[in-house]
Amino acid sequence: MPRDRVRCVECHEPIPKDARFCPHCETVQPSPLLDVGVVVTGVFAFVFGVILTVMTIGTTRLAGFTLVVLGFGLSVGGYTRYIDRQAGRRRR
Ligand SMILES: [Zn+2]
Repeated sequence: MPRDRVRCVECHEPIPKDARFCPHCETVQPSPLLDVGVVVTGVFAFVFGVILTVMTIGTTRLAGFTLVVLGFGLSVGGYTRYIDRQAGRRRR
């Protein structure tokens, strides 16, 4: 299968790579850019949170720890979504 073809997340019909909506079932397609943004934001929050946790004390440290957890969740979530879609694309 050519790499520049993507499949609808809902009905798995081939759709144009840059299509925002599926021409078959009109499902909104998740953008790979969005996932990258989520992961980058997550990593940034994680790093920033670690710095806050290590360098500060008290409430700021708590906020830093929250950022670490949040950033970790965002990174893993975005990455998992990306992997899921890659797997879905290879199926069939
Ligand atoms: Zn569809």
